[in-house]
Amino acid sequence: MSKDRPGEFELIRRFFAPLASDPGSLGLTDDAAVFTPEPGYDLVLTKDVLAADVHFFKDDAPEAIAAKALRVNLSDLAAKGARPRGYLLGMSLPSDWTADWLERFCAGLAADQSAFDVRLLGGDTIRSGNGLQVSITAIGQITAGGTVRRSGAQPGDLLFVSGTIGDAAAGLKIRLDNGFLHENNLADVEAGHLLDRYLLPRPRLALAGLVSKYASASMDVSDGLFADSAHMAVASGVDLEIELTSVPVSPALKKIRAGARDTYFACLNGGDDYEILTAIPASGAQAFQAEAAAAGCPVTAIGTVVDGSGGVTCRENGTAVTLQGQKGFRHF
Ligand code: ADP
Ligand code: MG
Repeated sequence: MSKDRPGEFELIRRFFAPLASDPGSLGLTDDAAVFTPEPGYDLVLTKDVLAADVHFFKDDAPEAIAAKALRVNLSDLAAKGARPRGYLLGMSLPSDWTADWLERFCAGLAADQSAFDVRLLGGDTIRSGNGLQVSITAIGQITAGGTVRRSGAQPGDLLFVSGTIGDAAAGLKIRLDNGFLHENNLADVEAGHLLDRYLLPRPRLALAGLVSKYASASMDVSDGLFADSAHMAVASGVDLEIELTSVPVSPALKKIRAGARDTYFACLNGGDDYEILTAIPASGAQAFQAEAAAAGCPVTAIGTVVDGSGGVTCRENGTAVTLQGQKGFRHF
């Protein structure tokens, strides 16, 4: 055991307390934190548990693991239209953790706390029986009653996604199989882009206010575009029609599309995008798109909401296509 490894309470004082500048954290010296919501706001709560070798590679940079654990939660808040306020951190540390690793993990959290204006409120730290697990519960706020659910999509709405789809899944394929680069003829800069998109989600918090202003339904895309579209369709009791040629993709993914259509479709539905999928009434669509672009977070119309009962139809230049593995990522 490293002599530099502090015990449980010294660990909390040394590594986590500096992140807990919100007075409600009580400096991480009490049994629980106190959080006072602003009057007139609802709290929006979300949790994601990330496990080594399931959600990240255990030799990923500690800063990146920390950022991913926080950002996947912030992505859920953004999708609901909420602004992040604080978070609770559950750490299950593997038996071989080091002070240096934890210091870097906390540096990753500190950087994202500044970037996304959010503070650590509390948590728990235990010894893991297995590999590292990080569990974050994020707390956001939104004007009372303003949360945008998956269930509000109406026939006639337009379907939008933010950013680009499929990059993270392609990045993961590179991590799992180096031959993927060569098979798809990817240049270093393209590979770098895809790897980065897998490693570091970009929570679309710049869109949160526009989602709450314009959207009838919203969710983040984490399990795969088609799988998550189906979740929205079922929740809303409608059908969604997606035009595949409209789905926004990066130059790297276009290259994959040109060479290997099946791989391209697998990437489109691979998950880990952390983009926002939202249904916007036609009357607000133009304004939503313009304001999103002005906020530095472009959105693209990819389809429409029609009468139905939870189906998703994908078309290519108008012709219906059946995609393999439309169900997306599932743990069980
Ligand atoms: P208890 O045993 O009463 O549940 P702990 O001894 O586990 O409390 O934790 C003491 C304090 O340290 C609490 O304020 C808790 O929120 C904080 N804490 C423990 N682990 C973490 C962590 N991983 N991140 C943030 N705060 C933590
Ligand atoms: Mg206690």
